[in-house]
Amino acid sequence: MQILVINAGSSSVKAAVIDPETGKRSLEMNAERLLDAPLIEFSDGTKIELESKGPERAIAVCLEALKDKLKDTPIAGVGHRVVHGGEDFDRAARIDEEVEAKIEALEKLAPLHNPINLRGIRAARELFADVSHFAVFDTAFHQSMPRRAKTYALPKDLMAEHGIRRYGFHGTSHKYVAAEAARYLGAQPKDLRIITCHLGNGCSVAAIEFGRSVETSMGMTPLEGLVMGTRSGDLDPGIIPYLHEQTGLPPEEIDELLNRQSGLKGLTGVGNDMRTILDESTKGNADCQLAVQVFTHRLRKYIGAYAAIMAGVDAIVFTGGIGENSPIIRHRASQRLSYLGAIINEDKNATTRLSETAPVVDFSMQHSRVKLLAVKTDEQLAIARECGKLIEKADAVNTLPTIPVAISARHIHLRRETVDALFGPGYELKVKKWLSQPGQFAAEETVTVVGPRNTIERVRVLGPVRSKDQLEISRTDEFFLGIDAPVRESGKVEDTPGCKLIGPAGEFLLEDGVICAWRHIHMTPEDAAVFGVQDRDIVEVAVGSGERSLVFGNVLIRVSPKYKLEMHIDTDEGNAAEINTGEEGVLQETSGSGTLRKRRVMEA
Ligand code: ADP
Repeated sequence: MQILVINAGSSSVKAAVIDPETGKRSLEMNAERLLDAPLIEFSDGTKIELESKGPERAIAVCLEALKDKLKDTPIAGVGHRVVHGGEDFDRAARIDEEVEAKIEALEKLAPLHNPINLRGIRAARELFADVSHFAVFDTAFHQSMPRRAKTYALPKDLMAEHGIRRYGFHGTSHKYVAAEAARYLGAQPKDLRIITCHLGNGCSVAAIEFGRSVETSMGMTPLEGLVMGTRSGDLDPGIIPYLHEQTGLPPEEIDELLNRQSGLKGLTGVGNDMRTILDESTKGNADCQLAVQVFTHRLRKYIGAYAAIMAGVDAIVFTGGIGENSPIIRHRASQRLSYLGAIINEDKNATTRLSETAPVVDFSMQHSRVKLLAVKTDEQLAIARECGKLIEKADAVNTLPTIPVAISARHIHLRRETVDALFGPGYELKVKKWLSQPGQFAAEETVTVVGPRNTIERVRVLGPVRSKDQLEISRTDEFFLGIDAPVRESGKVEDTPGCKLIGPAGEFLLEDGVICAWRHIHMTPEDAAVFGVQDRDIVEVAVGSGERSLVFGNVLIRVSPKYKLEMHIDTDEGNAAEINTGEEGVLQETSGSGTLRKRRVMEA
């Protein structure tokens, strides 16, 4: 399969024909200077200089030249990089009139990018009319960020009215390099906490916790976060009105100043190329020295913050032109991170050269618990793969069986030792009701949970005993108890908070184990084959029908021969979906049913 990938920018168009399976490129096109005299270069050595046809036509003119080259190459589909997908897109989408209209409507959020991306889409759809076109969004991967990470502290109605929230960008690259890093480490992204630093002309960091982006440094626009080539990154918002008062600059010029005249360029006056800045800083240019310090200081600040957010980190990844090629920046960003468990191997870092054959290099010490990796990013290949998957899966939806939905009220699983402490040595839990998952029961016993703010009585114990204590509560319970519990899958209780438990025979201090259960579906391997999913895939489920239907995203698949097909959501989610909740402390089936749309959040 050959996919044509197009990235249309304001002054350049890049395109490549890629086999998504092998990553092999049969043709690449790079067109520059679109606004005055387009110069098109192809990977086969051909160069075409064109007379300006004006910005409106420039992209189309380049794509026409490309089509001419592709006369004998069968294309299976076209993938377009689109910068802003807003609230609407958490994955790549097949482009139709409706998708085009949505991308157009997002122009107000990304005035510099989406209109140009759309111009590319429209020109390409005309020229390559007999194949499907797909939009792959820079923001999509970060849609999984929790609300706390997406939300600015502004008046809520104002934010809702204008779509103001954090979206994040570079998602295609962050997702790709995290998957590459995991593969290099012989693991799956869903087992790792990874901090990815994409350092190109634009720079951003992402915290990828067990395969999902939970934080990223760019916000509503790509201006927030790190110091970049020409963008300021974070700054006190008070500077903007101050600048306006002091200089009289109107908002659009301040925007231009922050986006195009700041960052490394603004700090140094020698331009935005990190190579020049590093060279000048070694020669003693004090502005360049400071710029390098500000750049890496900000980066270190984010690395520390993201380790804190994920309560630890397994790998820190450097990518993009700077991250892949600059040992000095990697050194400055990753020295003295031993408090996190990351110990740099300076020799390895200095000699690291990424290539097609060595796209990942580990530059940490062998005994470093956290791996420091330089990873070559490949957004074009990532886009081609997304398209390839969509083409293959085209008609798989709507032929799937429905899934019963059950609501889990708050409950606790206990270890043998904890049962002893709470109910007396050797105490055996009594079965109150067998649950739908074979062998699992709601016990007659309950415990009292004591949080820093409040106490909840009669929290149902589920049996049989397990190897780890685990208290599963809803967001509402969290706020009531005063505990900030992470969303986790069952069994993953490392680095979670604890609380006090009281039983009839005594108290027990739970050191960790309080989680907000990740909504999930239990199924057998046979069910998994029917749905075409694997253990720990992440999917989406539509529950109910008509006006009351609700789509639950981020639903985790759990596969075991011991399971019975059933989706578990908590009481908050049940209430939101207007599904009746069961008796307290007992898992109860309801009549809801679901259809499943599959989404592999990350490829292994
Ligand atoms: P884009 O974000 O436009 O895709 P790139 O990822 O290609 O950009 O990154 C461009 C940046 O990478 C530039 O600032 C360039 O100076 C920097 N860069 C490339 N090679 C090196 C190097 N060997 N040392 C330091 N910086 C480098």
